[in-house]
Amino acid sequence: MRPAVNEGAPITRPAMKPWIEAIHAYVPGKSKAADGRKLVKLSANENPLGTSEAALKARAAAPGPDRYPDPDSTELREALGALHGVDPGRIVCGTGSGELLTVAASAFAGPGDEVLYVRYGFSLYEIAARRCGATPVEAPDADYGTDVDTLLACVTERTRVVFVANPNNPTGSYLSRAELARLHSGLPGHVLLVIDQAYAEYVAPENDDGGVALANTHDNVLVMRTFSKAYGLAGERIGWATGAPALIGALNRLRGPFNVNLAGQQAAVAAVEDQAFVVSSRESNTQVRARFVAALEALGNFGLRPLPSEANFVLVLFEGALTAEAALLGLNDAGYAVRHLPGQGLPQALRITIGTEGQMDEVAQVLRTLAEGAQ
Ligand SMILES: *Cc1c(COP(=O)(O)O)cnc(C)c1O
Repeated sequence: MRPAVNEGAPITRPAMKPWIEAIHAYVPGKSKAADGRKLVKLSANENPLGTSEAALKARAAAPGPDRYPDPDSTELREALGALHGVDPGRIVCGTGSGELLTVAASAFAGPGDEVLYVRYGFSLYEIAARRCGATPVEAPDADYGTDVDTLLACVTERTRVVFVANPNNPTGSYLSRAELARLHSGLPGHVLLVIDQAYAEYVAPENDDGGVALANTHDNVLVMRTFSKAYGLAGERIGWATGAPALIGALNRLRGPFNVNLAGQQAAVAAVEDQAFVVSSRESNTQVRARFVAALEALGNFGLRPLPSEANFVLVLFEGALTAEAALLGLNDAGYAVRHLPGQGLPQALRITIGTEGQMDEVAQVLRTLAEGAQ
């Protein structure tokens, strides 16, 4: 039998699902200028200290690529469980936490459901929502930060998943343990709360937001972590999530079967066991960030406003004569790539990753010269 032919023009190519067509593909941070020059990359929140030596050694010692990796990342889950006081059975590893965020939305939301997050949240949440046909809903921000009451006011009977990055990317804002607990207790039990802790290693231990404890003790909380930021393993693509067994079971059904490569698993185990590297990354970041923020606050009369950040980047608002666009170009000319996010409704801001002290002193100096010149 011949296929039925349409009345109008014949359909000559596969038709993308409309909810997939509505996705704007993820835009990664740049590392080159428009003319192809290589720039110092302060646009993707990578670790300026690189990677733990022990992790590099373990990665180099991994067996050849002719064998599949452990599909369950068993050793890595055990190492993570020991470090964080979590049963390894309540952990799943992913190809970056990006994979896990995406499958979490797909497992618990679909057409007709809502996926909620704050305005100026991480751009992957909208993609994750659209990908499974759910409706992305943005709660209003509070001076660029997350406000628990505003977020809770946006919960409807159709809400299935709430994403909160803590610290948040791109704003750097942070919900305290008490605020996060209040958010959780304000949600109905059938709504999944995903606490995205991509930058948690940069937060001082005494300011821990309690996310892992919530995930350990409730049936509707997933915490997501990554090796891409403080661990300095962005290129290996490794993340993990923890939560109740039913939630982990859902992610296991949807994740790729051999989703973490062999060398990456070995590197990550060694990285977990080298907490000294993580601590020095955090301490260096805290010190350099404070110095950089102070240098920018001194430019307040030029309309530059760094937002408070608990992460390894600072979102800088340009509210005076110097625009974010002009600052972006000026920094490019000086050899630095930073992140401009007009597509996320932030044409007036640049997100600048905290690099080395020398780099940040130079960035601050370039911004001062540009601001003075723009008067
Ligand atoms: C970087 C980042 C991630 C993790 O990305 P992966 O490299 O896929 O692990 C997740 N959430 C936020 C908010 C991030 O900034």
